[in-house]
Amino acid sequence: MLTMFIDLATAPTHQKPLKAEFSEHEIDLAGEARLTGPAVFSGEIFRDDTRTYLGGMITAEVEADCTRCLEPVKRTFEIPFRDVFVDASLETDQRETEIAESDLDESLVIGGRVDMAEVVREQILLAMPEQMLCSEDCRGLCPICGGNRNLIDCNCEDDEVDPRWAALKNLN
Ligand SMILES: [Zn+2]
Ligand SMILES: [Zn+2]
Repeated sequence: MLTMFIDLATAPTHQKPLKAEFSEHEIDLAGEARLTGPAVFSGEIFRDDTRTYLGGMITAEVEADCTRCLEPVKRTFEIPFRDVFVDASLETDQRETEIAESDLDESLVIGGRVDMAEVVREQILLAMPEQMLCSEDCRGLCPICGGNRNLIDCNCEDDEVDPRWAALKNLN
């Protein structure tokens, strides 16, 4: 079963395997990063009355620019995923109260249809670290000449001081 959309009304009432696969053209990571191959969701689905349970693993290889030196960095993500979907139109005030009381982690779905590409995209963006580094000791770009300090020794730093700090230097 290869699924791009889940229709909550017709989701299986017995646990079934579910797989969804998206190419790099279908998952837009908003310029922060790009997929280097298909992103795959692999898991299981079942519906109990109005609740649809989806659980599994999202696997994706992502390429982004190193935060310091801007060279491309690849990272493979394996993201465990678990959610409960409820059709928003079936949600009554009373049920909303029940959910608040039981503190269930449920997602309301507008239109009764879950877009798996959106689920996968969101999870990858959430999994992305704030900084993607080519290596922990990446030396970054020289702020003066723009050279990649992992590749060249430009020697700018030793004799030039950012003019905004020059005044402080004179205090010493
Ligand atoms: Zn780097
Ligand atoms: Zn330099």
